[in-house]
Amino acid sequence: MVDCGITFEQNLQDHRGRPAIQMPDPSFIARQRDLLDGLIITHAHEDHFGAVPYLWQELKCPVYATPFAAAVLRKKAAWRRAPPPEPLIEVFPGDTHTIGAFDVTWLPITHSTPETCALLLESDDCRILHTADWKIDSRPVIGAPWSPDAWQGIASQGIDAVICDSTNALKPGRSPTEGEVGDALVKLVTSLKGRVVIACFASNVARVQSAFRAAHASGRRVGLLGRSLDIMVRSAKNAGLFEPKVPLIEHEHLGYLPEAEVLAVATGTQGEIGAALHRLMMDTHPSLSLGEGDTVIFSSKTIPGNEESVLRLIEGLRARGVSVVHADETHATLHASGHPCADELADLYSILKPKISIPVHGEHPHMEANAAIARKNGVAVALTGQNGDLFYLSPSPGVRRRWAEVGRLQVDEKARKLERVVASND
Ligand SMILES: [Zn+2]
Ligand SMILES: [Zn+2]
Repeated sequence: MVDCGITFEQNLQDHRGRPAIQMPDPSFIARQRDLLDGLIITHAHEDHFGAVPYLWQELKCPVYATPFAAAVLRKKAAWRRAPPPEPLIEVFPGDTHTIGAFDVTWLPITHSTPETCALLLESDDCRILHTADWKIDSRPVIGAPWSPDAWQGIASQGIDAVICDSTNALKPGRSPTEGEVGDALVKLVTSLKGRVVIACFASNVARVQSAFRAAHASGRRVGLLGRSLDIMVRSAKNAGLFEPKVPLIEHEHLGYLPEAEVLAVATGTQGEIGAALHRLMMDTHPSLSLGEGDTVIFSSKTIPGNEESVLRLIEGLRARGVSVVHADETHATLHASGHPCADELADLYSILKPKISIPVHGEHPHMEANAAIARKNGVAVALTGQNGDLFYLSPSPGVRRRWAEVGRLQVDEKARKLERVVASND
């Protein structure tokens, strides 16, 4: 089994509190868990590993993750008051493990969180590449840059099928590099006088690294606002992935520094109530109070569905005299997606030349767009489907529709249990 993630209930604005956590109902796998040899985590994003603390008791199989993902998983499990999976096997990028009928090789791939790995799944007569989430990044800031030669080497023995990220398949062109975003942050922060807050997704450790670079370039010191940022930065430091150029200070000390020496990195770019940015907007944050002359930089995109809460956040900050620069509203490259746009997908298919493409991640139109790019780039068969479909690769490839019963579970925080909320094939 590859990955086991969560999502959040839609329509954030309908709720006074946080949106509920939702995840797939794993019962069809749990019923045959004796046949399950392992769960592989490709990277430390919530939509790939966030359900492990909730569902591992149902699966009870060995879990494989890189040191960074394993460290974050342990901390998130403790945070959610669940025991960590046992055994949790740490795998170094590049390693191969035999799991059941497969030899699995973890292949580092560029994405928006450290140590993301694609998986090469080999059995006697077939080679499958699962891309995980990925993009082409020649300057990823953390980790090795994208190397066409390395992927060509892997493709040289032939790839039967590629299971491929579709998230940005509808976007033409290419995504910018993390390095470009870092350059833009340095340029912007060095031009500012007052306190600066850079808001980003906590899991993007490369972005946090770039915030430290901007602080170094502008004579500022850095404090982290948000528990998930603490978890990510500490885990990255322990895994040897994070090298700040300026010392990190306790966020409680930010309020005592001269304005021009303050840089805070904060979570809450989607307007989440109770997150650091929301508290800064409400002026209820215990460590920092913003006002006239200060700047908040959103080094993030607005996730569809969150437009209203983000707008409220921006307007609330501006009403208090704070300058706001949002990546969605400026020509400067203040955010880079971690997913491949159309030209990057075309590159991957041209390099790997698989016989079959199986687009995953994203909604139906994204997967269809990915399939069309695959066909245009010489892939003979592209199979698309929905949750619960069974994809078979031999003797001739196809899809058995609605093969498994699927559904969605939601966390009931008060009762501390999971409830089934949506019928099958959602
Ligand atoms: Zn993802
Ligand atoms: Zn991801």
